[in-house]
Amino acid sequence: MSQRVAVNRKCSKCDRQAIVEIKYARLRLCEEHFKEFIESKVERILRKTNALRKGTIIVAAVSGGKDSATMLATLSKIAKQYGVTVVGVHIILGLREYSEKSLSKVTNLCKELGVSCITVDLKELIGFTVYELARRSRRPVCSICGLVKRYMLNAIGVEIGADYIALGHNADDIIAYSIKSFLSHDIEALAKFGPSTPSIDGIAVGRLRPLYEVYEKEALLYALVSKLPVVIEECPFRPERPIEDRIKEFMNKLEEEHPGIKLSFIRRLEKRLEFYKRIAGDEPVGKCKYCGLISAGSECSFCRLTRRIAGKPLGPVVREKIRKILTDQGLIRSQ
Ligand code: AMP
Ligand code: ZN
Ligand code: ZN
Repeated sequence: MSQRVAVNRKCSKCDRQAIVEIKYARLRLCEEHFKEFIESKVERILRKTNALRKGTIIVAAVSGGKDSATMLATLSKIAKQYGVTVVGVHIILGLREYSEKSLSKVTNLCKELGVSCITVDLKELIGFTVYELARRSRRPVCSICGLVKRYMLNAIGVEIGADYIALGHNADDIIAYSIKSFLSHDIEALAKFGPSTPSIDGIAVGRLRPLYEVYEKEALLYALVSKLPVVIEECPFRPERPIEDRIKEFMNKLEEEHPGIKLSFIRRLEKRLEFYKRIAGDEPVGKCKYCGLISAGSECSFCRLTRRIAGKPLGPVVREKIRKILTDQGLIRSQ
């Protein structure tokens, strides 16, 4: 695994002092060559997923944390060289001070990187924060948060006509999610953990995971050496010891003894995806009868949740208000 190295060791590529050792690649790297190393990993993934065609539009989902900050910094730098447009999006979820801190970091980050940024406040859109939706539905904050984020990001992506929504998931996240899916033999979930998923015209925007092969510690180090503004503390609503964290600890121990085991896991997972997709079969895909976005049944989970809480499905309200925000910012033409 990559780790800080003792002073007085030189970079494998130049005469400068190394700041990190990447054991699986047998490299010691200075700050500049470390950044280059990470950027080339990201570029390889983006090329592989065909996301670097000129004219591509990518909505980058930025949370304020280190992963999505590194994702945005590397993605926007590479995108410029290929004529690809990147728009940052931050959703204000209403998780008290944590959301306030996140918003200020994201605003600074986008300004520093010269990326246009859309911020959308859930409370302003529908009158409820994630916290309030969770309390009223008696469901865990994390599950409501995930549902709301997926819905809002997709709605924004569809209105903009984006080709992809880029997420900050790193290699450790993907390994942990996929092992967790193995534990419950959830092949349908496993089949989705690739570097990208396709769009479905007009109802769902494909996902892109630029940090697919970037280890969590590498994403953190990139954010630190690049001095990216990020929130360091964890979300206060995160569960105490999620299974994903235990899997990450275990995999990091394995990585110490067998450098590169995480990378080979993720590369083999990617090669196996087609096989998993065949076993999983086609998912039912339809349109929500209220908002018109992707849904497995006749009503999407966001419209169902809000219908139960507010008495009417709020998907159409979200879509209309997002259209207005994007029109006001000149990101789409009014219809
Ligand atoms: P999480 O579900 O918190 O693990 O976040 C997964 C990914 O979703 C992050 O890496 C970001 O790309 C995106 N994301 C999380 N929170 C937000 C937010 N408040 N606004 C926009 N994107 C977000
Ligand atoms: Zn160097
Ligand atoms: Zn809906």
